[in-house]
Amino acid sequence: MVRQHRDNRSTFIRVKCPDCENEQLVFDKASTKVDCVVCGKVLAEPTGGKAGIQVEKLAVYK
Ligand SMILES: [Zn+2]
Repeated sequence: MVRQHRDNRSTFIRVKCPDCENEQLVFDKASTKVDCVVCGKVLAEPTGGKAGIQVEKLAVYK
C-alpha cells in the first residue's frame, strides 16, 4: 500500500492575542487578514503569500 502524500500541507499556528489573551489557530498561509475572534485585533496579515503573524506564536502544527 502506498499512502498519498500531499506536498503543500496546511500549517496552522496557535497564536495568543496580546489584547485579550484569546488563543486561536491561524492558517500559516492565510490569504486574508485574520482577526482575533474575541476582540477583533489583527493577528495575521497576508504578506506576499505567507501570512505575517503579528503576535506571539505558541505552537506550530504541520
Ligand atoms: Zn483578542
